[in-house]
Amino acid sequence: QFHMIKHEDLTWKESLGQGSFTHIFRGSKTDQRDGVTHTTEVLLKVLDANHKNCWESFFEAASLMSQISHKHLLLVYGISVHKSKNIMVQEFVKHGALDLYLKKSMSVSVSWKLDVAKQLACALNFLEEKNIAHGNICAKNLLLAREGDPSSDNSPFIKLSDPGTSMALLGKDVVLDRIPWVAPEVLDTLEIELECDKWSFGTTLWEIFNNGEAPLQGQDLIQKQQFYEHFSNLPALEWTELADLIAQCMQYQPELRPSCRSIIRQLNSLITSDYEILHATGTLPK
Ligand code: ATP
Ligand code: MG
Repeated sequence: QFHMIKHEDLTWKESLGQGSFTHIFRGSKTDQRDGVTHTTEVLLKVLDANHKNCWESFFEAASLMSQISHKHLLLVYGISVHKSKNIMVQEFVKHGALDLYLKKSMSVSVSWKLDVAKQLACALNFLEEKNIAHGNICAKNLLLAREGDPSSDNSPFIKLSDPGTSMALLGKDVVLDRIPWVAPEVLDTLEIELECDKWSFGTTLWEIFNNGEAPLQGQDLIQKQQFYEHFSNLPALEWTELADLIAQCMQYQPELRPSCRSIIRQLNSLITSDYEILHATGTLPK
């Protein structure tokens, strides 16, 4: 069920950092088609040697991504196994993770952010229709394929990355560290349902509209756990209609969270100009 890629077809370039039990590299892969050698730029995700027992779950994430196809889901080309090394080979996305992009960009317009939110909602709707829960939605896992330009009609274009190793195997501390992206009920069950992604979508909206700032930044695991124990909410955004959508998604009772259809409808009804006029007239603090 996996597409196996020969290790000798891979070329390794610089390290891009670490993820959950992973080391990430830029690289390329070559393949022969009609007697011609093609080279494709790829991202290589290597499972940590000391978490080798997670390989099944890690490859399950790869398999999930390669079985479904949607314009806003990242392409996974296959897997490669070399000696004791387990590698996921995926599409290299030019502008990298959205959280970093938002942090380093001076000013990103509201309509740009809203476009990104709609694209993520579109991917979630697709997954919901297929009854697939992703389980690791956050701005870091949204990759920016096209920057776009808010001053023209050129929109950004994002792709949702793979979920990685399942939370059941990552361990309690990693799961606690994913507060407030991980839905509260997951802490007890370690099972991912469709509703969990709605919660994470709410947190991701919050991040996007706070320019990539990590919610609960600097809080330790005990404080993070208490955040859920006290049924707390993230500080509301000043744009009330959007704040209301985030609040709907981040309801502690999973069955109260909105459907993707409802999320999309609400996003479509948000009118950026209203928000920008409020800003310009100083009715809202900047
Ligand atoms: P997790 O499962 O927690 O998401 P991970 O193994 O996916 O962990 P990340 O922390 O998501 O690792 O990714 C590390 C960094 O690698 C990101 O910040 C991003 O800059 C870069 N990156 C990840 N995937 C890609 C990709 N497909 N194309 C380009 N850059 C990527
Ligand atoms: Mg990731």
